[in-house]
Amino acid sequence: MTETVPSPYGPTWYAATMVAAPERPPLRHNLDVDACVIGAGLAGLTVAREVARRGWSVAVLEAQQVAAGASGRNAGFVSPGFSERIDAIVDRVGLPRAKELWALSESGAEYVRRTITDAALPDVQLRDGRLAVRRIDDEAALIEHAAMLRVDFGADVEAWPADQVREVLRKTETELKGETMTGAVAVVSPEFFDKLIGHAKVEDAYKFYASTSEPLRNDVRRRFPFAGLVFEEYNATVTLSTGNTETLVPAGEGIAFPLGTLDTFVTYGAPANLIETVNTVGLPIYARQLARQDGSAIEVKTEASILPINKRPRLAVRIFSSN
Ligand SMILES: Cc1cc2nc3c(=O)[nH]c(=O)nc-3n(C[C@H](O)[C@H](O)[C@H](O)COP(=O)(O)OP(=O)(O)OC[C@H]3O[C@@H](n4cnc5c(N)ncnc54)[C@H](O)[C@@H]3O)c2cc1C
Repeated sequence: MTETVPSPYGPTWYAATMVAAPERPPLRHNLDVDACVIGAGLAGLTVAREVARRGWSVAVLEAQQVAAGASGRNAGFVSPGFSERIDAIVDRVGLPRAKELWALSESGAEYVRRTITDAALPDVQLRDGRLAVRRIDDEAALIEHAAMLRVDFGADVEAWPADQVREVLRKTETELKGETMTGAVAVVSPEFFDKLIGHAKVEDAYKFYASTSEPLRNDVRRRFPFAGLVFEEYNATVTLSTGNTETLVPAGEGIAFPLGTLDTFVTYGAPANLIETVNTVGLPIYARQLARQDGSAIEVKTEASILPINKRPRLAVRIFSSN
């Protein structure tokens, strides 16, 4: 992990992945505005945005930088609810009032969703759903909690006991549909890899692996087997026909797929851009020699248009980190 700029976040993942912010110098002159908001976190910026949308002038004063506080160092999930558990809120204020508070938090989440869509910010992608893995093995309490969220608060939430998770994994194996596999690999972005090896449940396993698997012979930094999957950092980019560069595995994500299959991943060659190859079966590579008319040289022209195909797309699973 490399820290590029000094930041209030210290040497953390937040600092390593932050984008450059425009310079906002201190306010050194008098300003006559309708409203002044102190603090450029989610709360202050939302207030300022709403004031401005109503046609009033507004200034936001921030002691450090935008999102220097909790807004710039959270888990990035926006879901209804509060940091206090909802059953504790029910105990304290009663169910009818707790329902009102829940509805309020739902409208907050909806506000963020609408804002993301309206603002159409580059690099901000809206994704539905959230997976939370419980650290405590108490199935009964989990199911009861999810039932309460569904029945009392109308939340779209499901509790999956360990058996159900196992069943999903087995189903994935049946997606092989008669294919074979010898293992599975997950190519992941550098951000995903750093989060993986920094995760509390993985950290010790990684330290042990990195110190025992012949560190002088192998590069163990970026390839790490864990829980049946080999995680491999993959940072390749391609240049598109538009001239833009695209990262194959988006930041913070990965893609897992089986190894050793016989007929799932195939590569076809498309016909060359020649009149004689129209309506022919494509070959991996075309090469032809063209003699110059003046006899001075022979030009060699080659062409390859490779089309890699996954015939069982469900076997390739997009993965996201939860930390
Ligand atoms: C680790 C963590 C994970 C979280 N995960 C989630 C999550 O997944 N989902 C979720 O919905 N919420 C999450 N939260 C909560 C969420 O981030 C906060 O509720 C929210 O960001 C609070 O926003 P805020 O604007 O009230 O505060 P802040 O973002 O803290 O903003 C306050 C701002 O005021 C500035 N300030 C303070 N005093 C002054 C002053 N005197 N003059 C000028 N400026 C000042 C600070 O520098 C700061 O920028 C998480 C929080 C943390 C810490």
